[in-house]
Amino acid sequence: MGQRSQNMIQIMKDNLMEYVTVIGLEVHSQLKTNAKMFCGCKNSFGESPNTMICPVCLGLPGALPSLNKKVIEYAVMAGSALNCTIAKESKMDRKNYFYPDIPKAFQISQFDQPLCEGGHLMIETPNGQKRLGITRIHIEEDAGKLIHMEGSDQSVVDYNRSGIPLIEIVSEPDMRSADEAYAYLTNLKAILEYIEVSDCNMQEGSLRCDANISIMPKGSSTFGTKTEIKNMNSFKGIHKAITYEVARQKKVLESGKTVSQETRLWDANQEKTFLMRSKEDAHDYRYFPEPDLPVIDFITSSYVEKIKNDLPELPKDRRKRFVEKHGLPEYDANVLTSQKVLADYFEQCLEKYPEPKLVSNWVMGSLLKELNDNHLTADQSKVSPEALVELIKYVQNQTISHQNAKVVFETMFKEGKDAEQVIEEKGLKQISDTGELETVIQEILSQNAKSVESFKSGNQKAIGFLLGQVMYKTKGKANPKVVREILLKHLS
Ligand SMILES: [Zn+2]
Repeated sequence: MGQRSQNMIQIMKDNLMEYVTVIGLEVHSQLKTNAKMFCGCKNSFGESPNTMICPVCLGLPGALPSLNKKVIEYAVMAGSALNCTIAKESKMDRKNYFYPDIPKAFQISQFDQPLCEGGHLMIETPNGQKRLGITRIHIEEDAGKLIHMEGSDQSVVDYNRSGIPLIEIVSEPDMRSADEAYAYLTNLKAILEYIEVSDCNMQEGSLRCDANISIMPKGSSTFGTKTEIKNMNSFKGIHKAITYEVARQKKVLESGKTVSQETRLWDANQEKTFLMRSKEDAHDYRYFPEPDLPVIDFITSSYVEKIKNDLPELPKDRRKRFVEKHGLPEYDANVLTSQKVLADYFEQCLEKYPEPKLVSNWVMGSLLKELNDNHLTADQSKVSPEALVELIKYVQNQTISHQNAKVVFETMFKEGKDAEQVIEEKGLKQISDTGELETVIQEILSQNAKSVESFKSGNQKAIGFLLGQVMYKTKGKANPKVVREILLKHLS
C-alpha cells in the first residue's frame, strides 16, 4: 500500500472518531401520601381543578407550612431501598423563582442537606451486572399545573397539584447508553412500586424524568458539555430522545462546532429535541434555609433501622424467591417480577393452581402480549387470575386444545367473559370421543389413499398430513392425541 493511501486511511479514521456517551438522570416521583406535604389538603389526581387547595398550598401571605411526617417516612423508605445513607440531620430550603404555577414565588425544596445520599441500583447489561450510582434523594413540593388552552392565547392554572410531595432522585453520570438509561428507569420504577411509596404513573405525571447528556472522545477522561432534556413522559420516549440527542451532538462536533450547554425540549411527535433555553438564561435560585420549618433532626438510627427492617420485599428478592421457591428459570423470574402487579397476578394464579412453569408460560405469553398491545398493566386485566386458571385447567383436562385456548383467551381479555362461556359460544369443546372421531377418520382415510400407501411404505411423515386433514375437518376441535392413536391403529 502506498504512502498516500495510508495517509488517506489515517484521515478517514480521524474523522470517524469514536465517542463515549455520558448520561445522568433526574427523576421526580410523587409520593402517594394521603395529604399534601405541608397542609391537610387531599393528595389525589383527577379532581376538579382548584378544589384541593387551602391558604398553605396556595401560598397566601401569612400561611404557615407544617411538614407531613409520612413524607419523611416514604423518602427514607426510598433511600433505604436504593442503598442510600440517610442523613442524621436534614433541612428544607427555599428555591426562589417566579412563575404562575408557584404563587409563593418559591418552592420548598432541599439544597445542601438532602435526606438521602450516596446510593446505587444494579442493572443487567449484555456484559453482566452494572452498578449505577445515586447521588442524592431530596424531598420537595410539586408546583401547580399550567394548562395552555388549545386554540386560545390564554393559559389557566390548576393548583390541586401544588404542594403534593415529591422525591427527586439524582443519579451519578454513570450511564453510557440509552439502553442503560432505560434499564435504570425500569428498575427504579419497579423498586418504588414494590415499596408502595409512589404509583409511578407517567401518564398522570407522578413519575417524570429529565436527562443530562454529553459525549466525549473515547479514551478521554473529561466529560463533554452536557445538554439537559426535559418533557419526556414515557420510557420509550426517553430512549428515543437520548438516541436523538447523542446523534445530534456527534453531528455538531463532527462539523467542527462545539456543543453548547442548554436545556432542550423533546417533541415526541416530531421525535426531535428543540432548544428551550441557553445557559445564559439559567436561573440563580438564591437558595436559603426555609425559616418557617424546623431542621429535621429526629432521624435517629433506630428510626431508620425500623424502616429498613419493615421494607416490603424488593424486586431482586422476589426474583430470587421465584427461582428458589417456584423453581422458575431466571428469565421467567426476571420478566414476572419486572412489575409488582404482574408478579402479584402470577402468585394469585399459583394460589389456585400450583403449577409455576405452566402458569408462567400463560402469564408471560398470552397475558403479557395483550397487556402490552393495549397499554395496560396486570391489575387492569379483564381476565382475573381465577379466570386464567380456569382456562388453563380446560387445556390440561383436554376440554380444549392449546391452540384454541389462545383464541379463547383473546376473547376473554376483550370481553371479560369466563372461559366456559367463550368455549361454549365458539363451540370449541375438543372432540375426544373415539366414536365421533372414528367416522371423520374413516372418511379422511378413504379420500387420501395415496398418503395411506405412502405411510405403509415407510414414510412416517404421511401421518402428519392425515392428522392435519382430520384437524381441518373438525375445525381444530379434534383431540390430536386421540386422533393419532386411532390413525395408527388403522394404518398398522
Ligand atoms: Zn392545602
